[in-house]
Amino acid sequence: MALGFFFDQTRCNGCKACQIACKDKHDLPVGVMWRRVAEYSGGGWVDHGATFTPRVFTYYTSMACNHCENPVCVQVCPTTAMTKRDDGTVFVDDSKCVGCRYCEWACPYGAPQFDAATGHMTKCDLCADYREGGQDPACVSACPARALGWGEIEKLRAEHPGAGAAIEPLPDPSVTRPNLVILPHRDAQASGSGTGDVLNRGEL
Ligand code: SF4
Ligand code: SF4
Repeated sequence: MALGFFFDQTRCNGCKACQIACKDKHDLPVGVMWRRVAEYSGGGWVDHGATFTPRVFTYYTSMACNHCENPVCVQVCPTTAMTKRDDGTVFVDDSKCVGCRYCEWACPYGAPQFDAATGHMTKCDLCADYREGGQDPACVSACPARALGWGEIEKLRAEHPGAGAAIEPLPDPSVTRPNLVILPHRDAQASGSGTGDVLNRGEL
């Protein structure tokens, strides 16, 4: 079994309730964010000869750890602190973490987050305690637009044919094979296309 996230990009309005719910639930310190929401925007003018019209786009991507099939964070960890559990979630054992930050550098999603106060890496565990108690992860419950979901990844993929994870500003999914299913926004740009830019980079 492999668990993962579902994200309906067509519904997300960038409110960041998911980000705040995650911070609150896990009591994360300032600067540590297991879930972040990127605003991606681009476009320009279309030349009609005598006139020009604007053709611009903006969409949001709520991102956390994707509990990847090929978790490079696990591969680079020199102390085996980062492991993949039987349910497919990727977990960091802070009693084994020496704070070398290799996983942070390796992960193309910026998912592992360093806690400077403890000297250990921290990350999303898909709210393991909530799930054990029959609850949804905090981000999923908090989204007022019902844009987030979670579950068995093969089931999510079957429920949303045509969905994927090769969307800017996310990297090419062939690198880590993320357990992430995104229903794309109508203006979603392909990973690596460079057709837009992240407007809130300072927040991420
Ligand atoms: S998103 Fe990053 S931290 Fe999460 S499993 Fe994939 S490589 Fe590891
Ligand atoms: S709570 Fe929902 S609508 Fe708001 S930013 Fe997160 S995913 Fe988007």
